[in-house]
Amino acid sequence: MNIDSLLGRAAARLSEAGSTSPRLDAEVLLGHVLGVDRTWLYTWGDRAAPVYERARFEALVAARAEGHPVAYLIGEREFWGLALSTSSHTLIPRPDTETLVEIALELAPTAEGRLLDLGTGTGAIALAFASERPGWQVTGVDRVEEAVALATANAESLNIANARFLVSDWFSSLTAECFDLIVANPPYIAESDPHLMLGDVRFEPASALVAGEDGLADLRRLIDSAMRYLCPGGWLAMEHGHDQAERVRQLLQAAGYHEVASHHDLSGQPRVTLGRVGE
Ligand code: GLN
Repeated sequence: MNIDSLLGRAAARLSEAGSTSPRLDAEVLLGHVLGVDRTWLYTWGDRAAPVYERARFEALVAARAEGHPVAYLIGEREFWGLALSTSSHTLIPRPDTETLVEIALELAPTAEGRLLDLGTGTGAIALAFASERPGWQVTGVDRVEEAVALATANAESLNIANARFLVSDWFSSLTAECFDLIVANPPYIAESDPHLMLGDVRFEPASALVAGEDGLADLRRLIDSAMRYLCPGGWLAMEHGHDQAERVRQLLQAAGYHEVASHHDLSGQPRVTLGRVGE
């Protein structure tokens, strides 16, 4: 069987299993197994698929048909143009979260400064920011040891020297230092949200997704604690659910932050809210 028909069959199977991007999934999985990019698959579609790789590919397609996320199956996801290793201990970086990186960069016009990324997971936000601001010292923290190891390995393989990662339950391991900018993509999905039963999120760690108080518990906690870790005039910027912007603005205002505002993601949903402490 040639590569084209192998892909066609796999895509049909994934489509039947409910994937919303069956052809892309099949191409990414086969590209991974063959060690080639998608352009190669288009160029050489009439080549015979090698037997050993074909068996590995079929196994991945079967796992994908059961719902396992592509990013976990191939152990990689691109974020902000960076190839990040992923594992089932962390959330899979999402395109929506690039909005938070864009905002963080706008809030960091100076050549030097200090950024803290809370609940860093793969290190996606911290590493994207650090790659754009080599003069900044970037700290990423996560409560999960495996996440910190993964983020550290990602920094090493991307040669990003200005980011360090620590095990810390939110602020617990941080000393008296202050940060010019604190960012977070905390858990913000309500326990009762039916979307937790669908797609990739079923396989992601609940600790990275779900929060009490209708998803607001961790956002509230960060808003209250971050004030003690921000330098004068420093900013806090957080990702949140599409229907949480107003509540998050209220929480920031009630806590005494200034210049509180929300920003939309690429799909037009309010996704990031920020505030600033006094000078
Ligand atoms: N945006 C993610 C989702 O809706 C959730 C990320 C999070 O809880 N931090 O799947």
